[in-house]
Amino acid sequence: MLTPARLSAAVTTRGTRALWRVKDAVAQVHRRAPEGSVALTFDDGPQPGSTDRVLDVLAELDVRATFFCVGANAREHPELVRRIRAEGHAVGSHSLTHPHPRETSLGDLRREYVHGRRAVAGVLGADIRLFRPPHGHLGPAGSVLVRRLAVSTWLWTVDPQDWRPGATVDGIVSVAARASSGDVVLFHDWVEQPEAPEALDRSATVAALPAVVRAVRERGLRLERLPT
Ligand SMILES: [Zn+2]
Repeated sequence: MLTPARLSAAVTTRGTRALWRVKDAVAQVHRRAPEGSVALTFDDGPQPGSTDRVLDVLAELDVRATFFCVGANAREHPELVRRIRAEGHAVGSHSLTHPHPRETSLGDLRREYVHGRRAVAGVLGADIRLFRPPHGHLGPAGSVLVRRLAVSTWLWTVDPQDWRPGATVDGIVSVAARASSGDVVLFHDWVEQPEAPEALDRSATVAALPAVVRAVRERGLRLERLPT
């Protein structure tokens, strides 16, 4: 017989299980790169005129990085996704159209993440596991969702805020060049839903990279792609 006491115990057990599920999912989200390394990551592309400039600089610096591509952009510019991979960088997905997870239902978010991953994988002809949610926002339900999708979810530890309109080279370098062992640095080779059109000019990010790379290497740290 379901007495009030038993019902209360059942609800508590369910609540505890749900809490553990969220805790387990949150624990699976990665934030730190391996010891002794720093990972440079680039979100929101690919986009002609900016992703290729980032790739040119990384090639000159002999650095391998990680690109979290928006699925719709990957479909529009498949040659850039293939160039990213061909030049030794890691490729991850970053949703299909970059909605804000806080303003998106869980069902729509699931579709965004599944189709975003498929879009990038389709261009490369190989599955990809690396994933970063738009705006780095997960929340409890989002954490459980990405755990179920079996993606390798990465946030970051250093944000030089290069996505802000008017971001300067000095401003970006002053934050990103302080990256230390295990840091994951957030850059943008494109900006989805920019606060102002000037954020779409990625020149400051491109120009900041040599100083950031130099500073990290002077500290004896390796610049590496994110592990899957
Ligand atoms: Zn983004």
